[in-house]
Parts: sequence; C-alpha cells; structure tokens
Amino acid sequence: MQRPTVTASAEPVNLLGMDSAALAELVGQWGGKPFRARQLQRWIHQRGADSFDEMTDLARVFREQLAGHCAIKAPAVATEQRSTDGTRKWLFDVGRNNAVEAVFIPEDDRGTLCISSQAGCTVACPFCSTGYQGFNRNLTTAEIIGQLWYARRAIEADREHARIGEAGAAAAPDRVISNVVMMGMGEPLLNYDQVLGALRLMLDDNAYGLSRRRVTVSTSGVVPMMDRLGRDCPVALAVSLHAPNDALRDRLVPLNKKYPLAELLDACNRYLEHAPRDFITFEYIMLDGVNDSDQHAKELLDIARQVRCKFNLIPFNPFPQSGLTRSPATRVRLFAQRLMDGGVVTTVRKTRGDDIAAACGQLAGEVKDRTRISERLPDRAVITINQERG
Ligand code: SAH
Ligand code: SF4
Repeated sequence: MQRPTVTASAEPVNLLGMDSAALAELVGQWGGKPFRARQLQRWIHQRGADSFDEMTDLARVFREQLAGHCAIKAPAVATEQRSTDGTRKWLFDVGRNNAVEAVFIPEDDRGTLCISSQAGCTVACPFCSTGYQGFNRNLTTAEIIGQLWYARRAIEADREHARIGEAGAAAAPDRVISNVVMMGMGEPLLNYDQVLGALRLMLDDNAYGLSRRRVTVSTSGVVPMMDRLGRDCPVALAVSLHAPNDALRDRLVPLNKKYPLAELLDACNRYLEHAPRDFITFEYIMLDGVNDSDQHAKELLDIARQVRCKFNLIPFNPFPQSGLTRSPATRVRLFAQRLMDGGVVTTVRKTRGDDIAAACGQLAGEVKDRTRISERLPDRAVITINQERG
C-alpha cells in the first residue's frame, strides 16, 4: 500500500489506491479527524469524484490542501467497445506500451465486471493469449481498483442518460456492478499485496461495499498465496483446474509443476475453512481432443470427491497462435452431463462479447508482445498438446 506522506516537492499522491487507514493517516497530517477520511473515501469511490472542488461538504481549506498535494488518477482509457449483447470492454493504457482490459457483462440478475491484475502473465498457459504476451509488470492497487472506479462511473453515466431520455430508459435495464471477478489478464495471486489492497477497497462499506461472496479471485493455483488470501481476505475462489491429472495439467497450466494437484486440492480444502461460500469453483476449459473425454470426466469426479466444488466448463476461445480448438458443443454438453450424473453441480459458461473479442483469454489481443514469448515458443501448444490426442 502506498504511504500517504505529503511533502512540498513530491509528485501528487494518488488517493485512488489508498485504503481507509492510509487515508486517515493522510488526513491526520493536516489535523483532520478520521470521519473526514471516510467522507473523502466515499467521494472518491461511491460518487466517482476525480477532482476536489466537487467535494462541497468538505471544508474549503481541506479541499485546497488536497488539491495542492493529491490526485485521483485511474489509468487512462485507450479504447472502449460495446458488444451487441450489452458487454462493454475498456482497454486501459498502463504506460510503456502496456495495456490491460476490463469487461462488464450485464445479465438479468447481476452485472459482473471482470478486471485484470497484471500486464501479461508469467504462468504461460498455452491456451491463453495473455500467457503468450509474457510478463510485463504487476499493476498497482490504484490501477486495479481504477478499472472498477472507471467502469462504475461509465455505467452510472449511461444510467443517467437513460434516466433523462425516456426512450433510453425503456431500453436500458437497471445496470450496476454487483459482482467483480479477477479473471482478466494476469495471475492475481502472483501480485498479492496490490491485489489485496484492491480487494479490501471492493469490500469496504465506504468504498464499493461489495459482499465477499460477490468478489471472486481466479487463480491457476498459487498454493502458498491461497493460504494467505484465506487468512487475510477470504473472498469467493475460482481455481483454474483445466486437467484432471498431473501429466496433463503440467502442460496446460505449467505452474502445476511447482504446485501439483494433490497440494492444490489440499489448499482448496484449507481455503474452504475461511471461504464465504462453501464450495470452490473449478474452471475447466474445454479443448477439443485434449481434456474433454469421458475418461477425463471420470477422473474429475475423483477430484470432486476430495473437495466441495462446482464446475464451470469454459468453451475455449480460439486465437491464432494457440493451435488449439474448442470442443464441439455436443461434447461440452455430454461432458457436463457426465459430471452432473456423478453428482457435481456443473455450469457451462456462456460466451459473451464475441464481436469485440471480450471473451476469456482474448483480452488485449491487439497489445504488442513486448517479450516476444510467442516467437520464442511458436509451436508450444501444438507440440505438447497433440501428444494427448493419440
Ligand atoms: N490467471 C488466473 C486468472 C485470469 S485467467 C487464472 O488462470 O485463473 C481467467 C480464466 O480465463 C481462467 O480460467 C483461464 O483459464 C480462462 N482462459 C484463459 N484463456 C482462455 C481462452 N482462450 N478461452 C477461454 N478461457 C480462457
Ligand atoms: Fe496467466 Fe491465467 Fe492466462 Fe494462465 S490462464 S497464462 S495463469 S492469465
């Protein structure tokens, strides 16, 4: 967490990533009481303020002090796209030719924002376009929460337009961000401290006030950090399983070589002691001829006997370098049926925002591959995965 020290010559301190304690400390330097910090926090996160003049219930002197030393700064938006199905996608410029994305998915009963935690990713799963970018850098708490801050303002502005224009009001349902999932670019548990700061703001009643059950961290299985998250800030957990045995998982999720399945499943059970939900969601990407056979489903049922879980089957979203294809819809349905017949609750993820490449694993496809990992490993997916087909 960024410390709030204010000095005469320093760059403006960005308040966006500060938790309530840091804001209280900052306000305290000017002799302000903690409730001033809470007011400030509500202005920033609940009302989406980006300047201090609009904070009219704060004393003028205090506003001037803030304006002299501080800023409220989310990453700049490079592009915004809207899908015909209502999905919205923002590409945020995080400097030095790096960009990350956030996607808003409206549904009848909820609005889910999917946000990123890193520019690129070190885990390098062969089915994921983020993995092909290599790793560029960790995002700061301000950059992570800034995606939520920005999206919320944009959605509120839409609602306001709809309220004013009657035709719009009829067309636009009541859209708010009720859920946040950390399923965008990057491995959140490999950027633990900054992600933790953002999670705490999501849950804080003076910021976004989201329920723990409606904030989900998705991880490829960073075992020690799953334990820390369970202790520090238990939220809903999704684990990217993708394979039912170590031999296949070593190839699909290379982190498995460091934290193999038995350790991962133990960590899931430890997490459940703290979790706000009484199950882990196992994400399972459906890759044609790779991990989608009846035998794989049978092996998954063994896993499901060891951990209280639900399965979310994800139709693979293809991209050119992967050399992989999506399992046919009939296979996905049959696979889901096998799991359900074995007593495991299973859902199949709907693909959203296809027309704007907003689906899982397609994020920021247009961003330059700075580390050129895809050139170094051009046939990685094809070579390793085809062995499974025979
Ligand atoms: N690094 C974390 C979170 C980001 S990835 C993790 O791996 O869990 C979020 C989800 O998108 C994961 O389940 C991942 O497997 C999935 N995903 C990645 N590439 C995909 C693709 N091309 N098609 C469909 N899902 C994909
Ligand atoms: Fe990283 Fe997740 Fe993509 Fe794997 S699936 S490369 S862990 S972002």
